[in-house]
Amino acid sequence: MGSKKKKKKIKRDIISIDEKACTRCGDCIDACAEFALEMGKESVRLKGESFCDGQGACIAVCTDDALRIVKRECEPFEPEEVKRYVRSMGEDELVKRVMEHFLKVRRPD
Ligand code: SF4
Repeated sequence: MGSKKKKKKIKRDIISIDEKACTRCGDCIDACAEFALEMGKESVRLKGESFCDGQGACIAVCTDDALRIVKRECEPFEPEEVKRYVRSMGEDELVKRVMEHFLKVRRPD
């Protein structure tokens, strides 16, 4: 643990957050299967570039038009990093987050 390795950046799709448009509802946090988003003081924020797969599932739940996909230089998506985060979460928290995700992305009947 401790020292963070500097990752090679690549140009790819990644989420971009309009901090002024975000109303901090939290819906996108639940919608992201990679747990890439977290709540910040002023708006939702990206936990880390390597958590975002650039697919934009979060965009569909944002009714404030605060999210979009942009192409820019950033760290590559790292599924192993997501796995490590999920393992660190603990079973109760993981079940809670997965259920929130299913409920958020569920399509209307
Ligand atoms: S869904 Fe939109 S408004 Fe809600 S927290 Fe996410 S970015 Fe902000």
